[in-house]
Amino acid sequence: MTIPNLVNAFESIIGAAHVLVSDSDKAPFLVEWRDKFKGATPMVLRPGSTAEVAECVKLAAQHNLKVVPQGGNTGLVGGQIPNPDGSEIVLSLSRLNKIRHIDPEGYTMVVDAGITLQAIHDAAEKHDRLFPLTLASQGSCEIGGNIATNAGGTAVLSYGNTRDLVLGLEVVLANGEVWEGLRTLRKDNTGYDLKQIFIGSEGTLGIITGASLKLYPAPASVEVALVALDSPAKALSLFSLAKSHAGNMLTGFELMPQSGMQFVCEHMEQSRYPFEEQHPWYVLIEISAGTKDIDIASLTETIFTEAFEADLLRDGLLAQSKAQAADFWRLRHGLSEAQKFEGGSIKHDVSVPVAKVPEFLEEAIAAVKEAVPGCRPVPFGHMGDGNIHFNITQPKGADKAEYLAKWDDVNRVVHGIVASYNGSISAEHGIGILKRDLLAEVKSATEMNMMRSIKAALDPTNMFNPGRVL
Ligand code: FAD
Repeated sequence: MTIPNLVNAFESIIGAAHVLVSDSDKAPFLVEWRDKFKGATPMVLRPGSTAEVAECVKLAAQHNLKVVPQGGNTGLVGGQIPNPDGSEIVLSLSRLNKIRHIDPEGYTMVVDAGITLQAIHDAAEKHDRLFPLTLASQGSCEIGGNIATNAGGTAVLSYGNTRDLVLGLEVVLANGEVWEGLRTLRKDNTGYDLKQIFIGSEGTLGIITGASLKLYPAPASVEVALVALDSPAKALSLFSLAKSHAGNMLTGFELMPQSGMQFVCEHMEQSRYPFEEQHPWYVLIEISAGTKDIDIASLTETIFTEAFEADLLRDGLLAQSKAQAADFWRLRHGLSEAQKFEGGSIKHDVSVPVAKVPEFLEEAIAAVKEAVPGCRPVPFGHMGDGNIHFNITQPKGADKAEYLAKWDDVNRVVHGIVASYNGSISAEHGIGILKRDLLAEVKSATEMNMMRSIKAALDPTNMFNPGRVL
């Protein structure tokens, strides 16, 4: 069957308005926000229900079409963008955007996969509940994409990764069958936990169309502080101190370097530098409690007092209002975008054991400065999880393309150091296309074979996201 005939066939399933074929209609689905990955496709399908997704998959399977599922298109490893040769169709989940059910008393929620993370936050808040997954991209990313990438974010420290927040899934399989696994049970040991196979599978095993999620009490009180420090070593001591007092109430611990803070304050309209002097490093700390009975204000004060006494801090600001807390978070969330204004950035999403973060940073910063003289390291991120976004901005005035051509060489330097700490080369963004060729270097042959067997069992014709991950 030729493509126009298939266009008609897809139109008869989901309606002509939802089969996009013109260049202008397809354009937003073919490039990601950094312009790093650009693709081509004969069509973008926008089904409006699980049944429509299943029918589209059946038709695609009959004609041996390759299918790239796409959520909010905020992924950072290229998995959601079709190949540039136009050999794959894009299936967007964005029209599946409903809250199906909220059970505030049972602390669960069932949603369509294409709903944005922000809309989930808003819906939970209306019931005085919290869905803790928090990412700078939450206005655009969708829960199906979050689940497919096992997204991390800034609240992992207390609530875990997306994997820890999912109770059940609904998935369209490669043969078009719908797996209805939308249970809301906290305990269920009936054989293999199949949902875990799809969480973090990056669209290679099936199309997630619905999810049941865990909710938590909305925080009754939150304290947000921004502190300035000499070094990541002092940040580690502060982390240990804060954790010993706050335990699981330490919900955020984000490290930021002076370079990144400067980029944000220079380039992001709403951000203003909050201290009087410049400092080498900063940490944003969030402490929150689900009940009013816990006095987290005095808990935070104790942490501050002890940290100053132990000479860990150069300066510190405690947010005096929700607006000021939001200002502090804006500084952290602006870091990725602000870097764009300084030219090319070579990126790494790595993790090492938490206690090794200072040593890792010292070694990696020295190594990349030697590899690319004049480059500007901007390592930041979820220090409490040992997850650092080790980004390196080009030297001032350098040619962007020439700098980005060094991407693989610089990656090799950084990943080599990560390996020496038994770390991970992808802490939270996944593998996609960007890191596919590195996977075999960091997984054993046994692990690669198990992954290939799972792929072959669930997607024997390699229909979903071919060439991503494996
Ligand atoms: P997409 O980008 O559309 O897709 C991502 C992958 O999932 C692709 O492989 C795609 O094929 C697959 N996929 C999407 N939807 C489905 C589905 N329904 N079924 C099956 N497969 C599907 N990530 C973090 O983990 N932590 C962060 O702190 C973080 N911060 C970010 C900040 C910014 C500014 C940006 C731009 C990105 C950030 N990310 C972060 C990365 C990104 O937001 C996450 O990976 C997010 O989970 C992707 O969701 P999405 O809906 O945009 O998915």
